[in-house]
Amino acid sequence: MKRILPCLLLLLVGSGCHHPFAVDHSYVAKDQDSRAQFLILHFTGGTWDASLKTLTQEGVSAHYLVRDNPVRVYQLVDESRRAYHAGVSSWKGQTQLNAASIGIEIQNLGDTPGPGGEIVYHDYPPEQIDAVLALVKDIVARHGIRPDRILGHSDIAPQRKVDPGPTFPWRRLAEAGLIPWPDPLAVAERQARFEKALPDVKWFQARLEQHGFKVPGTGVLDPDTRQVLSVFQMKYRPARYDGQPDAETAAILEVLTMPMPSGRKP
Ligand SMILES: [Zn+2]
Repeated sequence: MKRILPCLLLLLVGSGCHHPFAVDHSYVAKDQDSRAQFLILHFTGGTWDASLKTLTQEGVSAHYLVRDNPVRVYQLVDESRRAYHAGVSSWKGQTQLNAASIGIEIQNLGDTPGPGGEIVYHDYPPEQIDAVLALVKDIVARHGIRPDRILGHSDIAPQRKVDPGPTFPWRRLAEAGLIPWPDPLAVAERQARFEKALPDVKWFQARLEQHGFKVPGTGVLDPDTRQVLSVFQMKYRPARYDGQPDAETAAILEVLTMPMPSGRKP
């Protein structure tokens, strides 16, 4: 009530009510956009109770949390405020991604040890993905986020993170027109060519960097490069994500990094 009264008084004298003093809103600058330039998708990697506790009380946060059962979208942080979900991260040289993004955490157990000690990833229920898609569409429309800036945590922090993981259906985002996706015919044509002559590691590193990753330029298939290759494969070729350079991965990478036709911005 204390805040409302001065606002009413200011309204009466013809001013806005966001300041305790008169501000003139007669002029508007043409060059401006949303502070949210990226949309980052995650899996929580835990049970519902553990995820909720972590994201509300333990130093990390996200704007949205999408529960799996029952499917429900929770907002934990106002979109105008910063959430802490990206951590140390980079995409096309941009590093302040918490400040420039909206984060969506998707409830999912993530990567857990299987019976033989291997890592197992858990499926996302289709209804949960429906909710994520609707949420992404809404956010992207309101903030004007570019398709190539709808990313996974593993894209921006491949050495630390694998989420949302190989079971996340990125293809459904592509089918909804939300993200770029490599044309299968163009991939097949290049794959046949690369099967005859696979590019060297330097080529892969250069293309992965061009795509957006922070990746070493050593020319050697070091663990960091394999890790970047692995998360790239999880997203675009989830049937095999061993981090080995191969013809199909090269083909996908080349198609995704082809120059855009003139006049079309990414
Ligand atoms: Zn994450």
